[in-house]
Order: sequence, then C-alpha cells, then structure tokens
Amino acid sequence: MKKLLTILVTAILAVTCVFGLTACGEVKYPVEDGKLTVVTNCPFGNYEYIGEDGKIYGIDIEIAGLFAAEQGLELVVKNIDFDAIFTSVDTGKADVGMAGITITESRSQVYDFTDTYCKASQKLIVLESNADFNGKTTVQEVETVLGALTDKKIGYQIGTTGGMYINGDEDFGFAGFSNIEGKGYDTAVTAVQDMKNGNIYGVVVDEGPAATIAANVDGIKVVDVKLTDEDYAFVMKKGNEKLQSALNTFIAKIKGDGTYAAIEAKYYQGVGEKVGYTVSI
Ligand code: GLN
Repeated sequence: MKKLLTILVTAILAVTCVFGLTACGEVKYPVEDGKLTVVTNCPFGNYEYIGEDGKIYGIDIEIAGLFAAEQGLELVVKNIDFDAIFTSVDTGKADVGMAGITITESRSQVYDFTDTYCKASQKLIVLESNADFNGKTTVQEVETVLGALTDKKIGYQIGTTGGMYINGDEDFGFAGFSNIEGKGYDTAVTAVQDMKNGNIYGVVVDEGPAATIAANVDGIKVVDVKLTDEDYAFVMKKGNEKLQSALNTFIAKIKGDGTYAAIEAKYYQGVGEKVGYTVSI
C-alpha cells in the first residue's frame, strides 16, 4: 500500500512538473556554472532585437550584460519563442527570461518575477489609410470603435498580453472583444506584414515595439492611446530566491544611480553608444 502511494505521489509530481504547475526539482542558480543564461525573444524593439552586425541589442539585453558582469558571470543570451521563455526557466534550461515580460496574475502563480523595471501598455497598429480612430483619444473611444467592428481579425504575438487583451483574460481583467477574431503570430512584425497584405484589420502589441515597428515599416500607424496598464519584470523559476533578490537589488541600484535612464535614453532617444552581445541561438 505504501509503495503504491509512493508511486502515485511520484506520478502526480512528475505530471505537474511536466506541465509546470509546481516547482519541479531543485532550483539551481546559475543553471550553468560561471554563466548567466538569459532567454529572450526578438524582435521586440527597443527591448531586444538583432542588429545589422548580427549581435543582440536592447534595454533588456544591456541590463542582462551589466547584471552578469556584476555577478561575475559570462552572459549567454538565447533567442527563443516568447512562450518557450517560461518553460525554459521552469525546466532549468535558463536562469532568467528578459523579454519585456508583463507581470500577470496567472504567470505569477507559476513563475517568480522580479520587481518591475518599466511601465508598459498595449497599443493598436493599423494601416495608415485607416480613418476609424481619427480624433479618438481615450481608451473608451478606441474600444467603442473596436467593439463595433464586424468580420474583422486582429493580430498579436502568441502567448502575449496583446492576445489576452483581444481574446479576453479573466486574470488580466480583460473581457475581450467577442466581435473580433484574434489571430496569433510568431512575432508582431509578422502580424503587421499580414495586415499589410490585407488579411487582418490591425495588430495589438506593446507600445515600445509598436513604435519601433511603425518607424521601420511604411504605410502603417500607431493609434496613440494606451490600452492597458502593465508592468515589465524579469521572470524565473519559482523559488529562485537567490537570483530574484540579486536582480531586485540590481534593479533598485540601476534605477537609483541613473544607469537605467541612460540605457533607456540610448534606445528611445538615440543618446549614447549601444552595447551588443553575441547571441547563442
Ligand atoms: N509584454 C507582453 C507580454 O508579456 C509582450 C512581451 C513580448 O512579446 N516580448 O505578454
């Protein structure tokens, strides 16, 4: 009987472990000795993107570089799918996810987050020729237009808060739009291309990447209304207190001494020299 119970408990643990419902196995920091393994997802300008020289740049990446140096670790950056970031930290393949990640209630139940380092919101990208939002300056006005659309699809990056906003997400506090068909893409850039091809009406994405996409793609515009109120933080395996507290101390330090503001200025104002890092994948 006791043996049967042991088998049963082991099986339950294994299943929950696979599905990431609970902390599985020991937390090890760093996952690879002497290295800080960071997982991210490009392109998500100004937070992470691959430059013309093939190196990875961005606000998150520069923070990662400084933090790794402070910890005496070599920085390893892997560029993977957005939703794979979470499983990667949970299964001990990486130490931390740094990818403009929003803290949400449901994510917090499964993973640990650092303190927030940045405020963010969703914005809507539409074709330049779209006049539906002319003169609309409030969330309510924009949502009234969205709520009245018929037979329209709106794109977002799979696994992101943009998708939660369009499709609805109870934990995130969004009812969604039952009149709109949400369409998930690997990246917001791909979604924008599909909009330009006439297949979808608009794209919902975080305001940082929305601005960088609009600056680089002709014929589109960003509706200048913050649709959500979000906090970015770094994500790690539940129970990784050592890394969480080291990162929180580091965030407070770079926020307090002007380092964070200087990094942001490089990317948002083009002031100062950006630092690129080698990307592993
Ligand atoms: N902030 C959004 C989220 O956490 C999008 C992040 C991203 O696409 N890198 O879901």
